[in-house]
Formats: sequence, C-alpha cells, structure tokens
Amino acid sequence: MQSLRQQLLDWFAANSRDLPWRAGYAPYHVWISEVMLQQTQMERGVAYFKRWLKRFPDIAALAKADEEEVLLLWEGLGYYSRARNILKAAQVLLTEHGGKIPADHAALRKLPGVGPYTAGAIMSLAFNEPYPVVDANVERLFARLYDIEAPIKECKKLVWQKARDLLPEGEARQFNQALMELGALVCKPKNPSCGLCPVIEHCRAHRQGTVDARPVMGKAQKIIPIATANGVLIREGRFFIQKRRPQGVWANLWEFPGGQIESGESPEEAVVREFYEETGLVVGGLERIHAIKHTYTHYRITLHCYFVSLLNGKAKPTLTAAQEYRWATPAELMAFAFPAPHRQLIEYLLADPGIRIQNDS
Ligand code: SF4
Repeated sequence: MQSLRQQLLDWFAANSRDLPWRAGYAPYHVWISEVMLQQTQMERGVAYFKRWLKRFPDIAALAKADEEEVLLLWEGLGYYSRARNILKAAQVLLTEHGGKIPADHAALRKLPGVGPYTAGAIMSLAFNEPYPVVDANVERLFARLYDIEAPIKECKKLVWQKARDLLPEGEARQFNQALMELGALVCKPKNPSCGLCPVIEHCRAHRQGTVDARPVMGKAQKIIPIATANGVLIREGRFFIQKRRPQGVWANLWEFPGGQIESGESPEEAVVREFYEETGLVVGGLERIHAIKHTYTHYRITLHCYFVSLLNGKAKPTLTAAQEYRWATPAELMAFAFPAPHRQLIEYLLADPGIRIQNDS
C-alpha cells in the first residue's frame, strides 16, 4: 500500500495539469470548480470557471446575484439545479459563516447541493483534511486496480472505503487529485495507457488480462425519447418568450411556448394546442423551422419547431405554464437563460440571415 501511495504521489507531482483552482486551492475556487466539473469536460469546465470568477470573484458577490444571471452564466453546463444550489449555498455562507467556507465536513453537508463528493473534495483539496473523494475516474481506476467483478454502481461503499484506507497522512490534497488525474489521463475509459501507468505493478486487472472488461457497468439505463412541438411567434422583430415557473423542470428558465406531442397528434396540431393552453393565444399559419435534438442522461428530446402567426389579433397572453412573458429582441435572447434545446433553436434562428424578424404577426 505504501509503494502504491508513493508512486501515485510522485506521478502526480510530475504530471498534474496546470488548472486555475490549483493556484492556491482557495476553498471558493475548489467548490465552484468541483461542482462545474461534474458531467463536464475539463477544457469546458476551465472556460466556465474563469468566466464565473470574473463575474463572481467571491462568495459575497455571488450571494447578492440574481438567479437569472447565475443561470445564464451556467447555461451550457446543464443540470441547472446545481447552479441554483450554488447560489442558495452562497447566501447561507454569507449569513451564517461570514462569507467563508467552513473547514467542517458536517457544516458543508448542510449546504444546499453539497453531497459526499463535493464535501470530500472541499475538505481534502482546500483544507488538506483526510476525506476521500470518489468520482467516475476513481471508480474506474479502482475497478481495474482491484479487478472488481461486480457492477461498479453496486460497489460504491467498497470503493469509498478503499479510497479512505489508501489516504496517506497529511497528503489528502495531492493524493485525491492523483487518483482522479490518473483516471482522467492514463486509466481512461477506452484504451488506457497501461504502458505509462505508474501503478501497473499493483494492477490486478492488468495481471489478469481483464482491463477491457473493467469496470463492469451493469445494465445500461434506457434513454426515453420525448417529442415536443414549440412555436416561434415574432412581432415587430421581437420574439415571444416565457419564463417557466420557479418549480419543476427547467424552473425559472425562458422558453418558446410548447410542450409534449400527445398520442395520435401531429406536431402541427400540438403546437397550436400547446400555444393556446399555455398562453391563451390562438396561432396558425405554421411554417416548419427545424427539428432540434438534444440528449440528456435519461432523455432524448426532439423539439419540432415552427414559426407561428397570431390568429386572434393582438390579444394579451394569459399565462398558465409560466410566470412572465416578454417580446424579446435578438440581443435579449442572448441575455436570458434558456434550456439547451431552446438555446440551440435560438442559435439556429439567429444564424439565418433570412429570418423573418421583421414580420408583424
Ligand atoms: S495498469 Fe492500466 S488498467 Fe491498470 S490502473 Fe494502470 S492504466 Fe489502469
């Protein structure tokens, strides 16, 4: 165990990537980067992290921000509940902890959105306290190092325990990062670079010839297809958009009205029905724009998008699925936070020089 630890630490000392939060390991920087990097590629995470720090350099600045602005800065990372929780946690940190992140695992776990992973990462990376951290890279690395035959999702306790047992005294910061970094750079999901691996002599899967079969993933979760129909209504160069309610899916994000296509219904029928149900506006004159496809962890959404025209004059909308609406200019479309498929639609619309933004419906 001792030589495994030392090899990992030596390897990390020589191979760690130069990442912005590693300059000083400020607790705020560690926290934001760790949340951002969940389900996000490193390069993208670094770009978002830098942009975030420019706008919110510390907890006090973040705690006073509008949720709308936080969501906009988060747009593209998905899982918006993470951004909402960061904002709520910053407000708690400001009022209850003087705007500082406490070096206290139990207090961290009470913050909105802070689970064992984030709390462990803050405690070890920011404060060098002996708490393990297990992400997907560490799971994969351990599945191979220990040649774990059971599906990895069923072995979480075992993997966390191994990570805890391995922690060298006084080296939690470097050691936890060494595990994650080795998983990310060498013990990759496909074609791991075993020839460059500093711990190859300890790797049971390598000895047994089972590297390609580890980790065992178990049954793949089914991706559920969802089809929606959405309408783009334009008046005097402005787009009709609505802000979703504060609860539920895509809470507080903006969107083009629409919703799921019901069984036996065509997308055209659905867009007219949904528009009426959500806004009280009667639309027609449909013109197909495009079908946007976007895949989430468990869902694959297809947005059937149409230009629509108002059939009941300049009636005032009555919202049933949103908290407010706006006639937004193209510039304003860039200033509000939208779910990813709606953002794709905006990019598609604004890339078209022939867009009918001069239409007066
Ligand atoms: S030897 Fe290969 S499979 Fe084993 S830990 Fe190293 S990179 Fe991963």
